[in-house]
Amino acid sequence: MIELAETTSPMFAQEPLTWAAFKLDGVLTARVSCFRGHSGLIPDHDIAADGTVSPSLACTWKGCHWHEFIRLTDWKPEEVETDG
Ligand SMILES: [Zn+2]
Repeated sequence: MIELAETTSPMFAQEPLTWAAFKLDGVLTARVSCFRGHSGLIPDHDIAADGTVSPSLACTWKGCHWHEFIRLTDWKPEEVETDG
């Protein structure tokens, strides 16, 4: 299990090992970046109230073998805008 830090940088910035809340078709999910800075959305994963993501996450970029159990530090779904 590794911890990802929340980022406030622009949506498609690629800071390694960060997350940002994202609304996809009205459903709250997150954009996460692997240790190489490849970012992607995780709408097919569950995010628990404490930020734990399940199942484990594998980077989908070709040639990247990053695969980890992750937790989104400071995940606070109740504070995310819901009118998106
Ligand atoms: Zn990657």
